[in-house]
Amino acid sequence: MTTRRVTLVIFAALLLFAAGCATAPRHGAARGPLSEQAVNIDGRNYIPLALIAGYYQAKCEWDPVARRADLIKDNKTFAFYVGMDYAAINGKPEKLTSPAVFYEGSVAIPADFAVEEISKVLGPPQVTGARVPVTQKYLIRKVVIDPGHGGNDPGAIGRTGLKEKDLVLDIAKRVKEQLNENGVDVVMTRDRDKFIPLEKRSQIANESDVDFFVSIHANSAKLRGARGFEVYYLSTAVDDNARAVEAAENSFLKFDDSSFQRHNTDLEATLWDLVYTENRQESVELAKYIAKAVDGSTSLHNRGVKSARFYVLRGAQMPSVLVEVGFISNPAEEKNLKGSAYRQAVASAIAKGILNYKNVYESSDGFTQ
Ligand SMILES: [Zn+2]
Repeated sequence: MTTRRVTLVIFAALLLFAAGCATAPRHGAARGPLSEQAVNIDGRNYIPLALIAGYYQAKCEWDPVARRADLIKDNKTFAFYVGMDYAAINGKPEKLTSPAVFYEGSVAIPADFAVEEISKVLGPPQVTGARVPVTQKYLIRKVVIDPGHGGNDPGAIGRTGLKEKDLVLDIAKRVKEQLNENGVDVVMTRDRDKFIPLEKRSQIANESDVDFFVSIHANSAKLRGARGFEVYYLSTAVDDNARAVEAAENSFLKFDDSSFQRHNTDLEATLWDLVYTENRQESVELAKYIAKAVDGSTSLHNRGVKSARFYVLRGAQMPSVLVEVGFISNPAEEKNLKGSAYRQAVASAIAKGILNYKNVYESSDGFTQ
């Protein structure tokens, strides 16, 4: 660990300690039942999460971008999302009587949930004045890079025969190299010319404990003049252009046997909403950082940040974006995309976008934005 990194972590920990959920129980307030610690916020009873953590000797983690506070004890996690009236207990959604809120530079949750639901899982609260251990959750250490298509799925094919599957694999390898050089681990969904089903790609990401999922593609259009790069995040509201891109990128799907649809019960749909809501804001932010970096360091026309319903993004349980690096159907862009210097520029820009995002949000406490 470098000195700078140590400094950053200590700084982040101090910020968390000052602003986040990890405050020690107030002096003199540690005795008595947890319910006596309730404060009235807009007519409802709340208890600061930091106090609860103190009573349970639990850990408290804060993710400033997702605005999520976790209470963690003995491998059990209670996740609270500021502004949302749902919590997740070990990943299982539970309704709250009112949303989690910011309170005096910390996060507070409804008192009834704190007293009843948490004690159901963790037992009666201890009486303790010990400090809550601080953990900076928001460190970006590992990223999945997903080169689109492969094997018998060539993706888009240019007029001179350049195949999307080959182009995006080469760019993905270059992104990996650059991220590795900057201390970020990379998991590739494929590192050779092999067919990987879309749902397998998000499964690889979900099982690899990664912080981001970045899928890399090249675009194609009937109009020869269509040009530029686009960065997409997952959404349900889309325009015609996004619909056309969706249709192309999702074409290898067989929806009838997708495990996602099969298991989409009400409960899992709610959980999905939680995961989606939590990751959406981060996905939008990541998309903006990548678009900005590509815009600033290549001559590619910037078509902007957009939303679409990509299956490969839908299954990933972490912030996810899909980058279209240019139009393989445009003769000038196809020519550019054949050259290694151009590929390197695009790859460096994607890596730079990810690293810029990492740098900004690792030093943010999320309360001052
Ligand atoms: Zn593609």
